[in-house]
Amino acid sequence: MAAAAVATGFGGRLTVDLGALKRNWQALDKVSRGALTGAVLKADGYGTGLVPAARAFYEAGARFFFVATADEGVAARAGLAEDTHIFVLNGLPPGAAPLYVGERLMPCLASVPMLEEWLRACIQSNQSLPAALHFDTGINRLGFRLNEASIVKRMIDSVGFQPQMIMSHLACADIPGHEKNRTQLALFTSVLAQFPGIPASLANSAGLMSNRDNHFQMVRPGIALYGGRAVAGRRNPMAPVVTLEAPILMVKEVKTGETVGYGALQTMHRDSRLAIVGIGYADGFLRALSSSNNHRGTQVAIRGKHCPVVGRVSMDMIGVDVTELAQLPDPGEMAEILGKTISVDDHADIAGTIGYEILTSLKGRYSRFYVESDAASA
Ligand SMILES: *Cc1c(COP(=O)(O)O)cnc(C)c1O
Repeated sequence: MAAAAVATGFGGRLTVDLGALKRNWQALDKVSRGALTGAVLKADGYGTGLVPAARAFYEAGARFFFVATADEGVAARAGLAEDTHIFVLNGLPPGAAPLYVGERLMPCLASVPMLEEWLRACIQSNQSLPAALHFDTGINRLGFRLNEASIVKRMIDSVGFQPQMIMSHLACADIPGHEKNRTQLALFTSVLAQFPGIPASLANSAGLMSNRDNHFQMVRPGIALYGGRAVAGRRNPMAPVVTLEAPILMVKEVKTGETVGYGALQTMHRDSRLAIVGIGYADGFLRALSSSNNHRGTQVAIRGKHCPVVGRVSMDMIGVDVTELAQLPDPGEMAEILGKTISVDDHADIAGTIGYEILTSLKGRYSRFYVESDAASA
């Protein structure tokens, strides 16, 4: 099924494997046995498509979903069955309570003004509207400060508001040995003591994969569901979800001493053959993946073989050295940009970023396909 507005079939192809999404959710659900396993859908399902990803997780068994924004919440609500629960991680914007109530979205309340607004809505509707309380245990991003716990407690008790969940977020979960993980876990545990009997949630993908003590009653994986590496320095056990292919536009010869691309930053040291491939930074193939004489760039795969990018990444194309291939590829043939041979983290490591940014950078010029592999073919 193609999902792009105009898809002539001559452009790039982004294929999302719904079977891999399901298997990844089920694998993490096994790791976190005893806790509920949610699914984080923010940023268009990490670039894979919010509603298709949400439905795949639902079919796998997920009922608790996390989005970042109200807009994403409304999109998720429209695409998901009635028996689902949607938390909005960015909390409650001023004036948004009626929308959240109407769409059955649960804000992760992170500040006193957010809590005041929600409690007003509770009073008006004369019920404890479901929401989470988000405490900041050290990331210094969203969340109540720890010394606000007692005022939060007083505020909610005065209205009879019962939070669905108490949550916090780890700053260094991708580095399991980092001492901040232990500090945050201890502080979170101390907050929970002040809200007895309320379910708790602390772990993102890395937090859940690295330490059982982080699981509590609910885990909130994102990147690992989408096949990305969550924990640094470990083999990534997740199945790749995204395959991205871009067409070879032409193949050309380049002589020793000639340069390739804008800025003439890379000189060929032998007579070479280049495939010019139709993908560029406007498609989310980051310019930081470029190659030059003193900086090795990334690789893509052609006919299953790793081939280095040569010179700068342009807006719409890259040069790829195919000299080593036994047989030259043909125009129209696809190069694998992401998939079984090249992972999101291969590119991320070269670009000095993380797989999250590679995935969420994928742009709209591809035709998108959703397929469902079974475990055997994956
Ligand atoms: C993004 C996010 C997650 C998911 O994180 P991953 O590292 O992608 O697993 C969980 N919780 C919060 C608060 C987040 O912002």
